[in-house]
Amino acid sequence: MVISTNLGFPRMGANRELKRLVENFWSGKVDENALLSGSKKIREEHWSLQNKAGLEHIPSNDFSFYDQVVDHSYAFGVIPARYKNLHPGLETYFAMCRGLQKAEVDVPACEMKKWFDTNYHYIVPEFEPNQQFTLNPAKILDEFKEAKDIGIQTRPVILGPISYLLLGKPIRGAPHEFEPIQLLSKLLPLYEELLSKLAGAGATWIQIDEPFLVTDLSSNLKKEYSSAYNALTKVSPQLKILIATYFERIGTNIDFVINTPISAIHIDLVRAPGQLETILKSIPSTVSLSLGLINGRNIWKANFDAALTTAQKAIDTLGSERVFIAPSCSLLHTPHSVQAEKKIDPEILDWLSFATEKIKEIVTISKVLNDGNQSVQSEIDANRKSVQNRKTSPRIHNAVVQEKMKTLNPDMFKRKLPFRERQKQQQKLGLPSFPTTTVGSFPQTKEVRAVRAKLKKGEIDQAGYDDFVNKEIEKCIRFQEKIGIDVLVHGEFERNDMVEFFGENLEGYVFSGNGWVQSYGSRCIKPPIIFGDVFRPKPMTVDVIKYAQSLTKKPLKGMLTGPVTMLQWSFVRDDQPRKDTTFQLALAIREEVHDLEAAGISVIQIDEPAIREGLPLRKEDWNEYLNWAVDAFLLSSTGVDSSTQIHTHMCYSDFNDIIESIQRMDADVITIENSRSDLKLLNAFEKHEYTNEIGPGLYDIHSPRVPSKEELKARLQEILKYISKDLIWVNPDCGLKTRGWAEVESALKNMTDVAKEFRSIE
Ligand code: GLN
Ligand code: ZN
Repeated sequence: MVISTNLGFPRMGANRELKRLVENFWSGKVDENALLSGSKKIREEHWSLQNKAGLEHIPSNDFSFYDQVVDHSYAFGVIPARYKNLHPGLETYFAMCRGLQKAEVDVPACEMKKWFDTNYHYIVPEFEPNQQFTLNPAKILDEFKEAKDIGIQTRPVILGPISYLLLGKPIRGAPHEFEPIQLLSKLLPLYEELLSKLAGAGATWIQIDEPFLVTDLSSNLKKEYSSAYNALTKVSPQLKILIATYFERIGTNIDFVINTPISAIHIDLVRAPGQLETILKSIPSTVSLSLGLINGRNIWKANFDAALTTAQKAIDTLGSERVFIAPSCSLLHTPHSVQAEKKIDPEILDWLSFATEKIKEIVTISKVLNDGNQSVQSEIDANRKSVQNRKTSPRIHNAVVQEKMKTLNPDMFKRKLPFRERQKQQQKLGLPSFPTTTVGSFPQTKEVRAVRAKLKKGEIDQAGYDDFVNKEIEKCIRFQEKIGIDVLVHGEFERNDMVEFFGENLEGYVFSGNGWVQSYGSRCIKPPIIFGDVFRPKPMTVDVIKYAQSLTKKPLKGMLTGPVTMLQWSFVRDDQPRKDTTFQLALAIREEVHDLEAAGISVIQIDEPAIREGLPLRKEDWNEYLNWAVDAFLLSSTGVDSSTQIHTHMCYSDFNDIIESIQRMDADVITIENSRSDLKLLNAFEKHEYTNEIGPGLYDIHSPRVPSKEELKARLQEILKYISKDLIWVNPDCGLKTRGWAEVESALKNMTDVAKEFRSIE
């Protein structure tokens, strides 16, 4: 008999109950008791839902008030000294997550980082060289017992010791040679104690996540896996260990399993279907295989027939006793249920499956494998019909788009002239040296958001809204003129979000009403869904940009979101390669760029903040990705005259290993985040002799602080050491959307004053 299993369920609740509960606790609207009892109710609902669906291995400890990684830091006493004087318990815990400011206390939060290649962020553990660990297993044990009390035996989930250490960083000031992994032998006894406590509480299976097993590991680390899991498997004969890997192929990292008496290993067969064959050949006869067949990173219905064929292959080799059916990874990255979707077109709705539906899919597939089709024939028929309909629906395939894709030719991926010659032609813009600009957005005040909400509710009409936006644009332009910015922007007041705005204006996209996914802490995002061929039915930004340009004689910068970022921040089609979808997006943007140019706009920025986060987890896959990602940017940006200046923007600072690709993007100007990175990144540009113009963010926009002129001068002086004068732009770090007008005015004024000073001393 195969076993139906889950690796983790989304935490927020059907209507983001957890978000509300936690935020109400933060603001003092509810007390700790209400938080604890409210969250218990949410957990129970999730366990019951999975139990009722007939799922056998139901996870516990997949819940968190904020993040599973910070939960481990708390459970192992990895609490940086700056939090040590706070009240133990939730005050300390939440201070690590989000900082704490109250009478006489002012501690910042721990760093937050992206969880592998997802849009989930975790709290980075900070380790001291002489780190002392203490075990606080209450949460993990209590959740196991809670489920048991309502008659549900769960499979607790914990993060493995090696991945936990690798996710962390040395505490500030630690000696250079120190790496957190050196703490493994000290940490392991606490994991042993934890496992023994779980066994004592009656656990029979435990899921230990080791996502780092899908990355390139040194041979040393591979040895660490063998010794760690040899120790952990000895703890209790009654506790079976499943090691979970996901997001990529495990490759030869699986070798340690052969020498380790673990009971099961989970592999991601959605991301890396090709790994099944090899693993089937090498897996020891004592180990079960958990097949990650249902996509935990996307929202499409599974194809039952395909999943069944794969599962059958595993059963033929291993026997059904040794096969688990599972999602590819935790369902944390999918929304709660399609039940709540009232507005999505019924045809498209029928193609979707969120976490709750995915649990049912796992159970149905397991039933077919165990008992044949009889009891679930109607589900199978419905699935076939839906899969078939999605394959052939005219909603998905658009002949015009397909035709256009066939006409792509090499000239569409390059500018007509090399950068230096374009630079000459772009002198027509009449820009001074040290030209100033901003990254795009200006403050999205409460008022701006309120007026947009009114439009959505129908309380004002489109004309009223446009009128309001136009006034904001005018104010913004007058301000930029007043302080002497050289390349102006319109301020992006009409946009709720840089991806959603374009998604709403393109065909091939659909928007869920309630498809929330946790991004960090209580913050959730609702990624747009790309379901079909993407195309641009009509110009998206031309009217607004033209209007803005009509208000000023200075060059106005058109502002677009790049194809890779559009892809990365959406749920995407799984019926064609990501590359094809990205090229379709690129073509749509290319058309917009063309129309902007035709409307007299000579500077156009195409933001690509997400290029870096799309990098594959295995280095050997980087080239293939970077090739098409850069090509997509080129396709979107190169259809212009040499005198039109193309900008791009990226909001991170770590370019060292992708600088050749950044160069190949061949943007005339790139603005980058830089203010928090000790100028290290500029090193990369200098070292690689990057040739085009660069605007390294002169100050940090993530903080309300107004930088002084002295500070900005020092910064610009420093930048001059790395980049030659004729290539430097002066701009903030990123968009100003989250800031207030008062700070923005003072900060930008200081910035333009400093640029003018540098010009005058030339
Ligand atoms: N143009 C966008 C803005 O200014 C860029 C945002 C981003 O880099 N994430 O808001
Ligand atoms: Zn940015």
